Amino acid sequence: MNRIYLDYAATTPTHPDVIKAMLPYFNESFGNPSSIHSYGQEARDAVERSRNKVASLIGAKSEEIVFTGSGTEADNLALQGVAISLHGKGNHIITSSIEHHAVLETCKFLGKQGFSITYLPVDGFGLVDPQDVKKAITKKTILITIMHANNECGTIEPITEIGEIAGEVGIYFHTDAVQTVGHVPINVNKMKVNLLSISAHKLYGPKGIGALYIRRGTRISPFMHGGGQERGRRAGTENVPGIVGLGTAAEIAEREMPEEARNLTALRNQLIEGILTGIEYTQLNGHPVTRLPNNVNVTINYVEGESVLLNLDLDGICASTGSACSSEEQEPSHVLVAMGLPHLQAHSSLRFTLGKWTTDQDVDRVLNVLPGIVAKLRAMSPLMKTAN
Ligand code: PLP
Repeated sequence: MNRIYLDYAATTPTHPDVIKAMLPYFNESFGNPSSIHSYGQEARDAVERSRNKVASLIGAKSEEIVFTGSGTEADNLALQGVAISLHGKGNHIITSSIEHHAVLETCKFLGKQGFSITYLPVDGFGLVDPQDVKKAITKKTILITIMHANNECGTIEPITEIGEIAGEVGIYFHTDAVQTVGHVPINVNKMKVNLLSISAHKLYGPKGIGALYIRRGTRISPFMHGGGQERGRRAGTENVPGIVGLGTAAEIAEREMPEEARNLTALRNQLIEGILTGIEYTQLNGHPVTRLPNNVNVTINYVEGESVLLNLDLDGICASTGSACSSEEQEPSHVLVAMGLPHLQAHSSLRFTLGKWTTDQDVDRVLNVLPGIVAKLRAMSPLMKTAN
């Protein structure tokens, strides 16, 4: 059976050209970029070429890119780095209630260190209101961190408006752009961000490599101490193959993004429309228009997301639950709950995320298989019986 992968938001396959570009840096040009001999210099050149490519994709200068070990590390460096650096100035951080755990857990940690965190609500579409950001600012605010697009519901946040507000009062603004870099156009100057997080494995690069954009002049302390790599902002011998992979992925994204986004938007809309019209008692989660080109998040009432997922998997279709249960208590998705979904509906949600190699036939297959699975599960569901 041919498997269909529709979980590109979790991770993407590594692009064959990315793998090809990385390979020589394992055993041919394997030098340490800090070494002054020719092996070292080859590796250093490769790192700097990749830095240029990543910078170019987001409209930054290359010296503003710091390579990290993941998107999570980029988020940690942004939040902890600013918190440590500006501790004397204030202790208040503004974020949203729908951030990825990489930001939420870092905020929780900082909360325990004496920082005060404001978690802004979102509306039914998952949008943060820029006016709420404005109202939350105090004399003690040192950082605003709002994600560019949400990884579960796909909603794209009004980052430029928030950047405008942060800029007016001179407060640092960080955005977690892990789900958007390489998928939607990004210009750090238009967005007026000081800090922006990137993860390679979400844009057809390898896992375990990320980057943080740090606007020139932004005061940020390293939280990793050791050698002077990355201009003293992130110690540790550089992951050269990973960095080359991220650079190549960025180069491919810059070239292919417009067409890919057009194709994915069409496929996404086809899938949304097919589910909403083909299956009763369904609804779309997230913003209908201002959303990632590849994201479909739906609630299918009267069935459990997990059960649908397992049944889809048996049919070779790999998706994800909107309510990614992160613990044994089967907590529903904090994102969907923050958007106002009752727990029961949050548990009945599914996320399909499409990518470069998704075809019309893949979408058709989901639309052929899903109604039967839902009908079968609903026939056994006590909740469906009460609804009828
Ligand atoms: N931020 C967002 C929005 C994400 O979706 C993810 C990954 O799922 C991360 C951060 C973490 O990135 P990484 O897997 O590179 O640590």
